[in-house]
Amino acid sequence: MGHSLLPREPCPGAASEATMPNKKKYNVNGQSTGMKAQIQFADQKQEFNKRPTKIGRRSLSRSISQSSTDSYSSAASYTDSSDDETSPRDKQQKNSKGSSDFCVKNIKQAEFGRREIEIAEQEMPALMALRKRAQGEKPLAGAKIVGCTHITAQTAVLMETLGALGAQCRWAACNIYSTLNEVAAALAESGFPVFAWKGESEDDFWWCIDRCVNVEGWQPNMILDDGGDLTHWIYKKYPNMFKKIKGIVEESVTGVHRLYQLSKAGKLCVPAMNVNDSVTKQKFDNLYCCRESILDGLKRTTDMMFGGKQVVVCGYGEVGKGCCAALKAMGSIVYVTEIDPICALQACMDGFRLVKLNEVIRQVDIVITCTGNKNVVTREHLDRMKNSCIVCNMGHSNTEIDVASLRTPELTWERVRSQVDHVIWPDGKRIVLLAEGRLLNLSCSTVPTFVLSITATTQALALIELYNAPEGRYKQDVYLLPKKMDEYVASLHLPTFDAHLTELTDEQAKYLGLNKNGPFKPNYYRY
Ligand code: NAD
Repeated sequence: MGHSLLPREPCPGAASEATMPNKKKYNVNGQSTGMKAQIQFADQKQEFNKRPTKIGRRSLSRSISQSSTDSYSSAASYTDSSDDETSPRDKQQKNSKGSSDFCVKNIKQAEFGRREIEIAEQEMPALMALRKRAQGEKPLAGAKIVGCTHITAQTAVLMETLGALGAQCRWAACNIYSTLNEVAAALAESGFPVFAWKGESEDDFWWCIDRCVNVEGWQPNMILDDGGDLTHWIYKKYPNMFKKIKGIVEESVTGVHRLYQLSKAGKLCVPAMNVNDSVTKQKFDNLYCCRESILDGLKRTTDMMFGGKQVVVCGYGEVGKGCCAALKAMGSIVYVTEIDPICALQACMDGFRLVKLNEVIRQVDIVITCTGNKNVVTREHLDRMKNSCIVCNMGHSNTEIDVASLRTPELTWERVRSQVDHVIWPDGKRIVLLAEGRLLNLSCSTVPTFVLSITATTQALALIELYNAPEGRYKQDVYLLPKKMDEYVASLHLPTFDAHLTELTDEQAKYLGLNKNGPFKPNYYRY
């Protein structure tokens, strides 16, 4: 590996698709139907001269990429209410050093953005440690990274870390709504060519990506993507660029899925790293993030007190386990439904009553779905719920609750708050539906920076690994981050907790047949 930033030994035989432990997860609906889902690449007929109206812009949002639903943005901005309707593309862009190689909403917001970035740095210890450890050594010297991710304070910490490690970066947003304008401004002010603002049209979206790659005298040699749109754009418009590109690092379920499709079709022309499925990231996204954010999402929308409330959680996978643990800790009485006897037994062992939804639907105060499945809560269930029952979803898509069945003439919908609807039956009974059945935590709360720190560190290490890998280590295939580096991501976060890791003695290492420096577990280990 060559750089002291990384664990000492090389990572031969990094897991490829063949050894991928968790393949079923790539289905965007969380169903194990193999790789059949169609790739929804954005339409190629993008022209930059048509600017949709504001209404038009809104309706375009879902046609770009699904990445907004399978990667996180912690976007929460206090400068959103800008009345300035002028498109950033029509403004003169210039930072205080005279550079105009960027396009943001308002460069004057840079100072606010800088404060946001400084706050995020506090909760991103691993990236800060990487910067310190680099000390002069530049593992990304010569790297020209083109990125397309959510542009938030956390991404800014990542970009500035990549810069500190020697890389040149150009960046666009992977989602038309998630950019924090002030953060984009801060990055532009400090010299990063950033092309992004909140509320881009679809045309703007592709224009921004194009401005990142189509540059006189600069060609990317690494791609950091979140959703696959950037990779797709380069494939379609500038395929020759791949001659210089050393690798792609992809963050989202959707983007990874696209990469596997390209690989299967024999069209992937560079190595790609699937960071979405590294163990640390999965644990943080699914278990710990949901354990933290379920209460946040419920509280912000309903002001409810959890103690003594009866809650049913559908699905006891990683997300369900996190939700149940949080609610139990708050004194709720938690029921679980499961289809899988192993997870069902785990729920029993953890002290939860395993029930069928029908058995408790009349008495519960809150229903939470986290199965990745469809129609888990049906109209029949909704009809039988008690007055004021709260219904929400923590699973990937909005298929878990049959929300469409509630759009019938006899039921009245009342929007009571943003993301909160009362659905009222003719007899006056009402249920409280949150985020219209979409992911509660992503719709109604923010994601803890520490969760994003894990992801960002994984991305940084994947870039370093691919960029420095000797010829032949990685072929034109999709790889998981080597386990040793996954362990390294975790170890970089340990000092935050003043955690003291035990070292194997030589004798113990020999006894277990392990290298003292890891990896400590086989690839199939389930944590
Ligand atoms: P998982 O596969 O570990 O767990 C899902 C569980 O649901 C499984 O144990 C399965 O047996 C069970 N299940 C399936 N159908 C069921 C049914 N009809 N009734 C009861 N149980 C059923 O998956 P996970 O990691 O827990 O993720 C669950 C969903 O949450 C996925 O869609 C995932 O994409 C999404 N997710 C959400 C967040 C978030 O922040 N909200 C984070 C990560 C993942």
